[in-house]
Amino acid sequence: MTDFSEFGFSKPTLSVLKEVSYEQPTEIQEKTIPLILAGADVMASAQTGSGKTAAYALPIIECLQDPENKPRALVLVPTRELAIQVEEQFRLFAKYWKLQTVTLYGGTGYDAQISALKKGVDVIVATPGRLLDLIEKRCVDLGKIEMLILDEADRMLDMGFMPQVRRVISKISAERQTLMFSATINSQVEWIAAEFMHNPVTVRANKQHIEPVEIDQRIYHVNEFGKDALLVQLIKDLEMQSVLVFTQTRRKASWVTSRLRAADVPAEEIHGDIAQNQREKTLARYRKGAFAVLVATDVAARGLDIPSISHVVNYDLPEAPEDYVHRIGRTGRAGRAGIAISFVSEGESYLVRDIEKVIGRVLDPASQIQKTTAARRLRLTPRRRVV
Ligand code: AMP
Repeated sequence: MTDFSEFGFSKPTLSVLKEVSYEQPTEIQEKTIPLILAGADVMASAQTGSGKTAAYALPIIECLQDPENKPRALVLVPTRELAIQVEEQFRLFAKYWKLQTVTLYGGTGYDAQISALKKGVDVIVATPGRLLDLIEKRCVDLGKIEMLILDEADRMLDMGFMPQVRRVISKISAERQTLMFSATINSQVEWIAAEFMHNPVTVRANKQHIEPVEIDQRIYHVNEFGKDALLVQLIKDLEMQSVLVFTQTRRKASWVTSRLRAADVPAEEIHGDIAQNQREKTLARYRKGAFAVLVATDVAARGLDIPSISHVVNYDLPEAPEDYVHRIGRTGRAGRAGIAISFVSEGESYLVRDIEKVIGRVLDPASQIQKTTAARRLRLTPRRRVV
């Protein structure tokens, strides 16, 4: 097993790793860090929760310290929340270095971002749309970028960002080092890699399952109208201290928050209808433990890295089974145990089966029984009755 010191990291970096209690590199870190330090283009398959951010942030910070050839780095991410998380990790790992970072994302004013850019930056973490806006306004120059990272590349593809990503990359020198991280490597992702990278080395971690470990996953069958009462009861009975509740829509997030408050459970909401600066304030308070329950939609909670989250509750199941994996990955962080609870109303049972296919195991034995009885019922139904 590799030790962080075996990568040849500098003393300041090793001190920070000690402070944050990272004892050993994770699998993805062990495999990618030496390649990145050697200057290779790397395509890595790693999901959130695997330590992927540190897998690129740590070697990049080391490279940025080289006074002879100080490169600049650009990290492209699909969402604002992930941008914030990634920048946070850069700041944390580089706390003993003078490193200028900036986060560029939409839904918030330009002034602060433009003035940060004017001061000069070493690392830009950006969503593609806002970055292009700023390029067009001539506020950002990508001429000095020598390290390019595409994080959650599969998600960027799914969200339709590739035309924007392509335009951004056309402004960057071909002499760069390019790193790509993706939860899944499918043919589309490989295609993108072939387009943007030079002889990439492919690294896979946890290739069997994309389901995070250490998470106790439970299912509760409940009538749609009984979800609020069950949520309050579970929060109280299980004495949940730090819960993230997912709803399918913004309106439902507001509704659930109001029901929790009415039951004297301190709750706050984050979703697309809440202004960005307000969301950030709420997240900062949640991180500090100022209230117990955060109710969120998928986009707002993506990439959240709050190690103290003990429970994730799927008030509604996600339509896309991959989102289930992302959601439950918010708990069980940094090797801590976590509990994921999913409410399943009658109309949502089919979603459980889709999720089971993605995570590769049975979540709900009841769904198997239902499946067989449903199949039997189907067989018993006279086919020609409706004709
Ligand atoms: P990520 O996959 O980048 O979202 O990281 C998942 C979580 O693992 C974050 O909370 C990191 O702070 C934590 N983490 C990353 N690397 C390590 C490590 N080597 N040891 C312990 N925790 C880590």
